[in-house]
Amino acid sequence: MNGDDTHTKAKSDIGADTDTVVEFRSVSKTYPGGVSAVRDVNLRVRRGELVAIVGPSGSGKSSMLNLMGILDRPSAGSVLVDGHDVAALTDREVSALRAGRIGFVFQQFHLAVGTPVLDAVADGLLYTGVPQRRRRDLAAAALERVGLGHRVHHLAHQLSGGERQRVAVARAVIGEPAVLLADEPTGNLDSASGAAVLALLRGLNATGTTVVVITHDREIAAALPRRIEMRDGRMVADTSTEPPIGALG
Ligand code: ADP
Ligand code: MG
Repeated sequence: MNGDDTHTKAKSDIGADTDTVVEFRSVSKTYPGGVSAVRDVNLRVRRGELVAIVGPSGSGKSSMLNLMGILDRPSAGSVLVDGHDVAALTDREVSALRAGRIGFVFQQFHLAVGTPVLDAVADGLLYTGVPQRRRRDLAAAALERVGLGHRVHHLAHQLSGGERQRVAVARAVIGEPAVLLADEPTGNLDSASGAAVLALLRGLNATGTTVVVITHDREIAAALPRRIEMRDGRMVADTSTEPPIGALG
């Protein structure tokens, strides 16, 4: 499989706006059973942004992030990721786009007992065609980037919760994704470890990584440059100074 070919082909078909990483056009998501988790959301995330999605439990935050990461497809409206209209992509193309261009961090990082940290991070490149030797070199560099250069040869169960989340972040950014999507990355951590993970995400953003982070922690959200607020599936606030997409024509 050659992910790059798929990627280039899809891109040229669509004529990507290279400044936009994620765009929602009137996006709704209704789950089987009839729950409307996302209702008519318009938004645009530009390259280099650091965006918080905030809102109470059940407001649709994770559903939004799953749509951004093409883990799910919308029931109505269009989702564009890195210039590709998701609806126009085959499952195979979606997999290639996800593996090559999107990094994920979830609330819990499940590291199998006995897995060397270096391998856990290198596996972030498993489906991208990068040879194993190079994957390991890049993994070492990514661990250095998240402040775990001294833990490269540790095993998963020898790490603290905060360190494990750093490994998750290293794995997510090893392929230099267009966007890093984090769903409550500090949700399971004590406040000091959580603050450290947030500082890490800010640092990555300062060096160019686009980051979208879900948090229910108002204090964390308040410190981030752009906040999108969700309530009952609707976007009820967006601190972006950009005009709404509809206004752009
Ligand atoms: P949040 O992340 O803000 O807590 P979610 O996006 O997880 O919110 O959920 C939004 C709504 O959609 C909730 O009512 C939830 O129960 C429902 N929901 C989420 N995932 C599914 C699913 N796979 N099937 C059915 N309903 C779901
Ligand atoms: Mg959630």
